[in-house]
Amino acid sequence: MALIDDGQGDRDCDVLVVGGGPSGSAAAYWLASAGHDVVLLERKHYPREKTCGDGLTPRSVRQLEEMGLGDELARSGHRYEGLRSHGFGRTLELTWPSHPEIPAYGYVITRKDLDALVAERAEKAGAEVWEGAEASAPVLDDGLLRGAVVTRKDAPGAAPLRVRARYVVVADGAGSRFGRSLGTTRDRSHPLGMAIRGYYRSPLHDGPWIDSWLDIRDRNGDVLPGYGWIFPVGDGRVNVGVGLLSTSNQWKSVNTTHLMASFVETAPPEWDLRPETSCGAPTGGRLPMGLSVGPHVGPTYLVVGDAGGSINPFNGEGIAYAYETGRMAADAVHLALASGDGMALRSYQQALTDRYGLYYRVARNFVRVIGQPEIMKVLVSTGMRNRTMMEWVLRIMANILRPDELGPAEAAYRSLAALARLVPLPAP
Ligand SMILES: Cc1cc2nc3c(=O)[nH]c(=O)nc-3n(C[C@H](O)[C@H](O)[C@H](O)COP(=O)(O)OP(=O)(O)OC[C@H]3O[C@@H](n4cnc5c(N)ncnc54)[C@H](O)[C@@H]3O)c2cc1C
Repeated sequence: MALIDDGQGDRDCDVLVVGGGPSGSAAAYWLASAGHDVVLLERKHYPREKTCGDGLTPRSVRQLEEMGLGDELARSGHRYEGLRSHGFGRTLELTWPSHPEIPAYGYVITRKDLDALVAERAEKAGAEVWEGAEASAPVLDDGLLRGAVVTRKDAPGAAPLRVRARYVVVADGAGSRFGRSLGTTRDRSHPLGMAIRGYYRSPLHDGPWIDSWLDIRDRNGDVLPGYGWIFPVGDGRVNVGVGLLSTSNQWKSVNTTHLMASFVETAPPEWDLRPETSCGAPTGGRLPMGLSVGPHVGPTYLVVGDAGGSINPFNGEGIAYAYETGRMAADAVHLALASGDGMALRSYQQALTDRYGLYYRVARNFVRVIGQPEIMKVLVSTGMRNRTMMEWVLRIMANILRPDELGPAEAAYRSLAALARLVPLPAP
């Protein structure tokens, strides 16, 4: 339902940000830091849960440190040094590589804590953060988006307010009802992810690695394109989950709850994952990836984070891309406000293409290739015997390549495509 506005809102501002997850809070932080009048709407109250693996790669850490949150992260998060991969009876410990601009460590921190920290940071920078405030409908003016009708979740029955803005940043996550009401759609030819996670109390809650198992299997014993994980939260708990890609033929028939249950049952006993150590039923969600949702730019608005399908198809990581797209959108909106020229919003599309175009093309094709169980099996079993190859894989998948290394990433994809042609495919 779009509201045709008749002039003044209950609150007028430069920029309205819809959604206070990583992408929205980052956009609000950078815009407020640049001196703009920003209202951020979050329909829940902080601290609030968000279903997630809680894993921050170095790419996320960099963004948080650049928002001035390095000390808080070190205090509230559990720092880890790299990835421990398991598969086909082998284990490889891979520390994060060094990079001129990206730190060589990550953190595990619950989203309950993390998202509250970043929203608070945006508020300190000058953004007005409205909690319990849902953007329930767009406000349109001559067909242009000019704000939102806001329903106060904590004041049922109260008349909705209208926030009017020159520009709107749509950051309402994977479901993106607000984005959909503006006409965003997911390109179904792109892969989609599905993941589920739960917390367990574990004696190994504060280890130096995040662990992933690359040989999760379906009922027929076929290796699935995805992985199981155990991430140490550092507060007595581990975050346990499985993620799966839509590129496998079995996608529709796999029940993630069952997959998760069998992953937990077969996890090595030292983790002590049992019904008695479970902290509650697991919850899941969808992972829109590879910039599969668009358009990202409208005449007066930009779409960021999961609302724009910005998750990395290689590894299902979305937090770093939410911070980055939020920041890139803030740059474009700042340009539009500073120049008085709304066309400047288009620079956001160009920035997305420049930063992710080639990388996401490689990633999308890669995940199509590994949708074939024969190839997934050959790749993982080969990789697990070859440390150098896995070090490369880690750098590619976590997107910690230097610009001069993007060529080899494309070359790596071409080798995978060649391999795909060699392996006999099942009849369609
Ligand atoms: C099971 C699972 C595990 C994952 N594990 C990881 C991981 O370990 N590491 C990683 O990097 N990524 C992970 N991801 C992906 C990651 O969670 C997302 O990419 C990330 O949360 C995207 O941030 P966002 O700000 O775009 O959206 P969200 O985090 O979804 O934030 C959107 C916010 O908008 C609010 N909102 C929605 N609609 C409205 C409205 N109309 N008005 C006001 N507010 C609104 C919501 O309440 C929410 O707070 C995982 C995802 C899943 C499902």
